[in-house]
Amino acid sequence: MTLVGVLALQGSFNEHIAVLRRLGVKGVEIRKPEQLQNVTSLIIPGGESTTMAKLAEYHNLFPSLREFVKMGRPVWGTCAGLIFLADKATGQKTGGQQLVGGLDCTVHRNFFGSQIQSFEAEVLAPEVASKEGGPETFRGVFIRAPAILEAGPEVQVLADYPVPSNISTSPYSSGEEQKENVEQSKVIVAVRQRNILATAFHPELTADTRWHSYFLKMAKEIAETSNSQLQLQVNI
Ligand code: GLN
Repeated sequence: MTLVGVLALQGSFNEHIAVLRRLGVKGVEIRKPEQLQNVTSLIIPGGESTTMAKLAEYHNLFPSLREFVKMGRPVWGTCAGLIFLADKATGQKTGGQQLVGGLDCTVHRNFFGSQIQSFEAEVLAPEVASKEGGPETFRGVFIRAPAILEAGPEVQVLADYPVPSNISTSPYSSGEEQKENVEQSKVIVAVRQRNILATAFHPELTADTRWHSYFLKMAKEIAETSNSQLQLQVNI
């Protein structure tokens, strides 16, 4: 049986485990560094990234989480999990917050506003729909959601979203002077970079299991590739 680790410090880990169960996969709660050795892939759920970071620090999880990502193990971050995986976070209250990193992007925390500006909307993700079937759109549950403002060349954009008219992207578009006044009309809300999947919204809070299924396929492909590479090394 496939075992998928779910970081279970805080936030919507139970909801992820429930979706995995529906897909016939066991989600294993991860709270200590050594527990990561029992799983080959990991979901970092949504929640509150400062609190999650404090708990991860308390449990000395950051070195093992960084190692897990660097080893090329499949990791999916939703919402606060996306923030954890970003190389750089901007926006309010980001000062001093530790990140796992690995995802070459700048994420803006609480980009769409505070709790009362949380919303649901259809998100177009053709690449995921082409693999999983069904409609091209997905129900996006955005709860104090972050958004990716800049992404590196290796990052594949799976979904973007129009910037609401009351929100400005210009103060956040990197430290470079000449970019200060560039307004973006869209922000990125779902990406993949090699072994990392990240979504600004919460698929685990919907009845649609396609993002989980997409992640499981991605994890399987990565496992098969590393097995065949291992096999090649053995045969040489
Ligand atoms: N805004 C939250 C944070 O910065 C993330 C919200 C979420 O995970 N739903 O941690």
